[in-house]
Amino acid sequence: MAARREVVVVGGGQTGLAIGYFLAQQGRDFTILEAADEPAAAWRERWDSLKLFTSARYDALPGMGFPGDPERYPTRDEVAQYLTEYARHFDLPVELGSRVRTVRRADDGYLVELDDCAYEADQVVIATGPFQVPRVPAIAERLDEDVVQLHSSAYRSPQAIAAGPVLVVGGGNTGYQIAEELSSSYEVHLSIGSRQTPLPQRILGRDLFRYLEATGLIRKTTASRIGRRMAGRDTLIGSTRRALRRKHGVELHERAVDAAGSAVTFSDGTILRVGSVIWATGFELDHSWIDVPVFDANGRAAHRRGVTESPALYFLGLTWQHTRGSALLGWVKDDAEYIAHQINALQPGARREPQTLAS
Ligand SMILES: Cc1cc2nc3c(=O)[nH]c(=O)nc-3n(C[C@H](O)[C@H](O)[C@H](O)COP(=O)(O)OP(=O)(O)OC[C@H]3O[C@@H](n4cnc5c(N)ncnc54)[C@H](O)[C@@H]3O)c2cc1C
Repeated sequence: MAARREVVVVGGGQTGLAIGYFLAQQGRDFTILEAADEPAAAWRERWDSLKLFTSARYDALPGMGFPGDPERYPTRDEVAQYLTEYARHFDLPVELGSRVRTVRRADDGYLVELDDCAYEADQVVIATGPFQVPRVPAIAERLDEDVVQLHSSAYRSPQAIAAGPVLVVGGGNTGYQIAEELSSSYEVHLSIGSRQTPLPQRILGRDLFRYLEATGLIRKTTASRIGRRMAGRDTLIGSTRRALRRKHGVELHERAVDAAGSAVTFSDGTILRVGSVIWATGFELDHSWIDVPVFDANGRAAHRRGVTESPALYFLGLTWQHTRGSALLGWVKDDAEYIAHQINALQPGARREPQTLAS
């Protein structure tokens, strides 16, 4: 027999916890199902030295400030600790070790199936994150076995790297940060396929996100012209090609287009022999386990601000779901509060109305 809930949230990262906060305020009967065995799994799996590009002022979920100096840039471990404490503080009903295998429509809502149990839910929120399956280009298969290869999601620290030149592939924030870290102990090369717009982390001593917040840019929606333009362009925060080359001695290359043996070929025809390659080439979404017709021809979730055409099925935390802030710690609350209102509107039997955010 499946247990019954008003709402099931799939995914217990920052997004699942943020919607959990609002559902708890509504007095809902809900459960957050999290595949990993420990809280904040996505953050714990990122590299050891990772520092956030958002300052602590903008790293808080609804209802609980991020501790310490608001101007500093917290570490990966501080975020994991904050999220763990957040779930405990609000007593959110997170069930760890609970991977959802299928979500399908049922007569009366949805059936959410795990390996050894199932839930029936009136409403379901998919909060499984914007970064799921590591993306590695096909040329990786053409490299010899003795070339050490890993995706950025498996990179932890310089110790994992073999001797010999290291090639980092990918000119986003992750590629730049890993290349910079490795440059103190290795000969490092960075392949940049498409240039991202560089933005300084601090402008006149103030955090970049303070300006994005003050100018309203962080909340420009995908319906606006400027929002659409911003969504189409990734930004590189706090790094530049020049600093990487001059300060850290990293050699820059064009897009990696081919590989054979231990050699990688770039789009300008140059060739580099490598000992290790780190693929900082991003992630794919995997929603194949959602057996509800809410995907477009390209397999992308079709939604308006997270609300799908299948009644009471929502997405939350997707990159640019609504604004630049949709998949960021400090702004996910906006979309979470919006989805919580949708949930409340469909099922007004809650014991309390959702409260308006104080901050
Ligand atoms: C390298 C890197 C640096 C970043 N730095 C910043 C930063 O400085 N500031 C900032 O605001 N944002 C940053 N982000 C972006 C964003 O904040 C994170 O990606 C964040 O982890 C997204 O939170 P989430 O809860 O949506 O997804 P996740 O943190 O990925 O959580 C999703 C959860 O769902 C679970 N799950 C997945 N599938 C299932 C399933 N079928 N059943 C049950 N559970 C499932 C996963 O185990 C996971 O715990 C960064 C991202 C990356 C990759």
